[in-house]
Amino acid sequence: MGESQLRVPLLAANWKMNKTVGETLSFAGAFIPEVQSLLDSQDPWPEILICPPFTSIPALSSALASYPVAIGAQDVYWQEKGAFTGEISPLMLKDLGCRYVIVGHSERRHVIGETGELVAKKVRAALDAGLKPVLCVGETLVQREQGDALKVNADMTREGLSLVKREESSHVVIAYEPVWAIGTGKEARPDDAAEVISHIRETVDSVYGGNASEDVRVLYGGSVKSGNIRSFMTREEIDGALVGGASLDPVEFARLALTVLRARPDRRAR
Ligand code: PEP
Repeated sequence: MGESQLRVPLLAANWKMNKTVGETLSFAGAFIPEVQSLLDSQDPWPEILICPPFTSIPALSSALASYPVAIGAQDVYWQEKGAFTGEISPLMLKDLGCRYVIVGHSERRHVIGETGELVAKKVRAALDAGLKPVLCVGETLVQREQGDALKVNADMTREGLSLVKREESSHVVIAYEPVWAIGTGKEARPDDAAEVISHIRETVDSVYGGNASEDVRVLYGGSVKSGNIRSFMTREEIDGALVGGASLDPVEFARLALTVLRARPDRRAR
């Protein structure tokens, strides 16, 4: 597999419904000193993304404004504005300085009941506003046990990209997150994650033809922590991680950032 310069490693945090504004500011105040030596050096720096709840986006954005940490949201609506009570538009996120948005997280698909069709519209709307969507896909335990993991992830990938043109595809990040591994403490075996991610890449290639997937980052997510992230990052198929629980602790999140950096010194963000 060829490696594109565009595939800078990405460590993404999904805080879910955690942290008040005060707790967000405490996180920022503790995280920066943990990575200060890295920031001061000329060493390569992986791309770091934090997706707090909507309410914490302005505070986190200002606290980290002078650091190479991108801010994103955990969801977005697919319309620009209008009578959609409780929803947040892509333009509103852009206005707050967001660069990314998570779309189709399994908790939204399985707890809130979001459909694949809606997820595809959200991916489209994010791109239209200049946001990079982090498209989440992943099989349930039953689907894995029935031997359907590859097909389920290929179908979800195809549907999520259905409104995306070939020339836009490098702006989409795909996160393979097996539903049974999210928040359970049971991570996937790196071999299994790499197998699914290779299949996701083949699917991207089949959607667009040629080797389009060489420019598309595919992350692994599901019970990643500092003790296991290296085993994923040393697989060349895997471009980074989407981390839930372990991203809430600034010291642990700094450890994850340092490990992603050391595992991939060959690819740089600056
Ligand atoms: C997630 O929320 O996307 C996730 C992977 O959670 P955790 O790391 O806690 O399993």
